[in-house]
Amino acid sequence: LSEKLDKALHTLKGHGKITEVNVAETLKEVRRALLDADVNFKIAKDFTKRVKEKAIGQDVLTTLNPGQLMVKLVKDELTELMGGDTVGINLGGSPTVILMSGLQGSGKTTFSGKLANFLKTKKAKQVLLVGCDVYRPAAINQLRVVGEQIGVEVYAEEGNQNPVEISQNAIKHAKANSKNVVIIDTAGRLAVDEEMMNEISNIHKAVNPQETLFVVDSMTGQDAVNTAKAFNDVLNFDGVVLTKLDGDTRGGAALSIKSVVNKPIKFIGTGEKMDAIDVFHPDRMADRILGMGDVISLVERAQEQYDEQEARKLQKKIAKNQFGFDDFLTQINQIKKMGSMKDLVGMIPGAGKALKDVDIDDDAFKGIEAIIHSMTPDERTSPSIINASRKKRIAKGSGTSVQEVNQLMKQFDQMSKMMKMMQGGGGRKMMQMMKN
Ligand code: GDP
Ligand code: MG
Repeated sequence: LSEKLDKALHTLKGHGKITEVNVAETLKEVRRALLDADVNFKIAKDFTKRVKEKAIGQDVLTTLNPGQLMVKLVKDELTELMGGDTVGINLGGSPTVILMSGLQGSGKTTFSGKLANFLKTKKAKQVLLVGCDVYRPAAINQLRVVGEQIGVEVYAEEGNQNPVEISQNAIKHAKANSKNVVIIDTAGRLAVDEEMMNEISNIHKAVNPQETLFVVDSMTGQDAVNTAKAFNDVLNFDGVVLTKLDGDTRGGAALSIKSVVNKPIKFIGTGEKMDAIDVFHPDRMADRILGMGDVISLVERAQEQYDEQEARKLQKKIAKNQFGFDDFLTQINQIKKMGSMKDLVGMIPGAGKALKDVDIDDDAFKGIEAIIHSMTPDERTSPSIINASRKKRIAKGSGTSVQEVNQLMKQFDQMSKMMKMMQGGGGRKMMQMMKN
């Protein structure tokens, strides 16, 4: 069996390669999908270049669809681009101080609550939430509501307009009340401005946090990258929190941010509720970008185009009467990688639609392949030389009977005739015949 397998692999390798044309076409689509998913142009371009280098000339295993391999290459590269592995947060220090930064509306207050809840329930931490948004009284109330929901104490100083002082006092309060994590929620503005940057920078210097997190609304797309860069320049933050990934945003911003500021994405927010928080997994995000960006179907579409090219090549061969058993094998391989035997028929140029609903058994190919593999190259290209003694040898080599070999020869003969007929514009005539 293993000898047969080797032979089969050898034969299929020639046809199972991803070609340069195929790759270029696929990657064009991938790049388009990445751009659609809000990935920065240069990043998308570099990305597809790297995938191309990896894809060219890669051998494909018999069972693996080249399209699937492309998807895998793309996914692996995406995962790598987003940091590869999950990066946790630093819970050192006593207490651990975590500082939130980001624009107004990005989800800082909500995420502060989520993270407090996460650390309390998953890591058994005593958490203190600190309200440092001193400009909007409603902001402190919002934090109090959040704190009540999750049963976490909120520290705030009504009337105090100095966030640096408040955060320092909060840390003292935490120490005195044996809290081991302090989460500081800060004020944001609608756009990056100097005053906000000075304020957050001053808090940062005063409390020297173990973790400074940059919170960003994933729906803001390309803007997210510029904002991330501005905050990183001032804070040199430790990680990114991507919020609002529950919407239909594709998360392409995740890719761009990681590439531009080179800081890991640590958490994602997936809803307004307190439990809508997830540790960031680059591979899952890659799945998301691929799935939602429809890259998989794009890759498949490019693959289909490739198959069409193959089909055209085949048509030429048929026209020149050069269709042999190797081509037959290629067709079988094409069908198998597409999933179902039924599609084999669909691959026969011109015959597909007419025969598509015929029920065909997927195992039927096994015997056929074995027989073809037992033929010599000459026998495959010129089936007419297969005489009685050759048939006997082929039957023996393939573990079948002469009768089965005969049957395949007959089928092959019919198929070549039929294809030749369709090729000659007789397809319509034949379908007409079948209808009558
Ligand atoms: P802040 O100004 O940065 O403190 O942002 P908020 O925490 O107040 O959030 C702004 C709005 O976004 C609020 O209406 C939140 O309910 C909402 N929000 C925050 N995170 C998420 C999320 O992950 N998913 C969804 N759908 N909404 C979110
Ligand atoms: Mg807020």
